[in-house]
This record gives sequence, C-alpha cells and structure tokens, in this order.
Amino acid sequence: MANLEGRELGDCVLVQYVDKGSFGYVYTARLKDTEAGKTGYRNEIYAAKILSLDNATDRHRELVKREIDILKPLNHPNIVQYKYHVVVDKTACLVMEYCSGGTLYQHIRDLKRDSKVMGEKEFLLTLTQISKGVEFLHDSSIIHRDLKTKNMLYTDDKKVIKIGDFGVARLTDISSKKSVLVGTPYYLSPEILEEKPYDEKTDIWSLGCTCYEMATGSYAFYFDTMETLKEAVCRGKLPESPSISYNDDIQNMIKQMMSKISADRPTIKQILKFLQEPHTYKPRTRKYDPGGQRIERSPSVDSNKYVYPGMDEKTKKSNRKFWEKESERLQKTLIKNLDHYQAPEILVKIKKMQRKGVEKKEIKREFIRLVGDVTCAKLFPLVDAMDCLERGIREFEGPRDLDLSFTGTFNITPKDN
Ligand code: ATP
Ligand code: MG
Repeated sequence: MANLEGRELGDCVLVQYVDKGSFGYVYTARLKDTEAGKTGYRNEIYAAKILSLDNATDRHRELVKREIDILKPLNHPNIVQYKYHVVVDKTACLVMEYCSGGTLYQHIRDLKRDSKVMGEKEFLLTLTQISKGVEFLHDSSIIHRDLKTKNMLYTDDKKVIKIGDFGVARLTDISSKKSVLVGTPYYLSPEILEEKPYDEKTDIWSLGCTCYEMATGSYAFYFDTMETLKEAVCRGKLPESPSISYNDDIQNMIKQMMSKISADRPTIKQILKFLQEPHTYKPRTRKYDPGGQRIERSPSVDSNKYVYPGMDEKTKKSNRKFWEKESERLQKTLIKNLDHYQAPEILVKIKKMQRKGVEKKEIKREFIRLVGDVTCAKLFPLVDAMDCLERGIREFEGPRDLDLSFTGTFNITPKDN
C-alpha cells in the first residue's frame, strides 16, 4: 500500500506511519472537529488501522466488520478504545485510541537485549491489568482468540497496558464454537490447534504463553512449522523452562494456565483473585512435574473434606478419562434426580456459571431459584462435586453426613482419617 501520510479518509487524516500487521497498516491520525462552526482537525492523536479492501476476500471483509462490531461498544481502561470508522474507495479506516508506548512484545525484547527479564513486581502489575481487560471481555461473552504480546499496547508513560487487535476476536456463540485457525500460531491453544470446540479457556492458554514470555524473554512455544508446533503444544508437555525467578506460586499459576486440558486452566476471575490475594488462592490438587507428567499432590487431611472413592495409586496416575467419565456420570445422575422438564438446560446454565468462576454462593442462589430449596439442599453437593471433578479437584467440601447413596450409581464417601 502506498504511503498514505496526509491522506484524508472521511473525518480522519492520516499523520504518520507507525507499523504494519498481517492484515493492515497502522498510522497516527487526527479527527475532524465536528463541533458546530469549527473547521480543521482536533489536536488529539489517534491510531488508524488501514485495510485495503481492493482484493479483499469475503473472509477479509468479514474480519474488518468483526473488528468494528466488537470494538465499538467496549469501554474499559485496559482495552484499546475504538473511536470511529469509515470505508472510502475500498479502503477501510479504523480509528482507535493511540498507544504510543509500544507493544509488550517490544518491551520484553528490549529487556532481553540488556540481558534482563521483567521483574516480579512489574510482572504482577502488568498481568493484573491485562487480566482485568480479559475479565471484561469474558464478562461480555467475548473470546479474544489472539492474545499475544504484540497485541498488548502501552500508553505513553508505559503505566497502563491495553489489549488491542480484535481482528479475530469474536462473540461467544455456543452453537458455532468450532475452531478456525486464527492468529499468530505460537499462542494457539491445543484445542484450537486440534480444531476442537473451545471456550474462554483458550484465552487463558494464550495468557499463560504471554506470562511465560514476560518471565523468560522468549516465546513459550516457537516452532518453524505448524506441524511441529502442534505436536509440541498438544503433547501436553510444558516448555523447557529456563530458570524463572518468580516465586513458586506464580510459577505454578503460569503452568496451570498452560494446562493441556482446558478445564484444568484457571478462569480469569481465579487469576485475578490470585493476583489480588495470593494467600487466599487455593492451588489445585494437581501440578505438573518438570517433565510434563501430571501428578497428584497428596490430599490434605481435613475432616470436612470428602475424597472421591477410588483414590488408589492406579487412579491417581493421571487417568483423565476416568475423571471425565465420572463427571459425565455425575451429570446424568443429576439430571435424573432433578426431576424437572428443563433439567439439562438448568445444568448447562449452572455449568456455565461455574466455568465463568461465579462465586459458589451466587450459583447456589440461582440453583435455589431454579429448583427450589428442598431439591437444592439435596443436590447442591453434587453440583459442586461436578465442578470439582471438572477442575481436577478430587476433594469436596460438604456436611459430615453427606449421603448421596440415593443416586444408586454415585457415591461420595467421607475420607478415612
Ligand atoms: P497481526 O495479525 O500481526 O496482529 P494486524 O494486521 O492485526 O496484525 P495490528 O496488530 O492491529 O495489525 O497492528 C500492527 C502493529 O501496529 C502493532 O503490532 C502495533 O505496533 C501497532 N499498533 C496497532 N494498534 C495500535 C494502537 N492502537 N496504538 C499504537 N500502535 C498500534
Ligand atoms: Mg495484531
């Protein structure tokens, strides 16, 4: 595309070339003063993303429209704010907040050039801001799908970081959660690479890769071909970790974000909770050993906790299928016992809340509203157990006299000792 500096597009004039991405060019820009009686351009500097629609394929056009549709209503301090858009002579111009402090990618590489990595304090501050942006997106049912260090932009003084580039973000639509290959591949989650259905947890994977990059100065997964990348990511092995200097809790958190099984990854709310109150964060009962084999932590001794029967050595050995099957069985049991014509819908709603990280007491309130007090008292421990199973937690809190034998097929017994 020719140099467009000085070119007027609708109410916008392009000032200076900034950078290019795989789909477009970015310029600084100014907007016309639309106040009555005024002419000329306002002083504020914006960023304008210019996309040529000349030879645009339908997919290309769709990406532009999608970016506009998604960015328009979003207003959050950690999300790049969209201001204006226009299409002139097959050139689309998207005007947004200008972040002059550069990208997180550049910042990490600048540090690396000086043989440094981001310090722990800066890491925590940066991750908190990015996570708040992601939380806002997930609360708005938007999966970004292209979270990466090049799409995280600093404001002038580098005090605030914002998530940008929604070219491939899209609204969550359960019915069409089939994967399409999008974005820079290094941050793609196993489920996207394997073209399986995905949800918000795909963003958590990418965020995990972003954290890894902040901690080490290098991509978590960097391979020449899609095949080798896919093989490495889907093997479930964590990247060989050059020594990360952050404390163990942070390291574990990063590892959990990069769990191959999406249900094992924390929700964005859990990540924020960890960042705000690290001491209250309960690590999962599982962790990865450095070789990538999943191992169980020995369950803590606590008289109010129940441990799923079958915690023998054999079961403990990462038999994921066994737990998935149990979770499925538990759901069927719940549906049967709910005795409600909308039982599956109720369960889907509750599971969605659990996946979003909604607080247990709020989920319980909703469950009571849907099924009534009596049924809730009887079945809520199962609802909770279902969540625990999905998240890989094998111990459930519950009343000492928890008796679920009425289900016939499902049993939770108090833990010995
Ligand atoms: P890719 O697929 O590589 O992400 P893209 O076509 O989606 O590319 P963008 O990521 O939107 O393009 O922009 C390319 C570059 O322009 C960014 O890496 C960044 O350096 C710069 N840039 C983008 N948006 C802004 C902004 N709002 N403020 C300042 N610089 C920006
Ligand atoms: Mg980009």
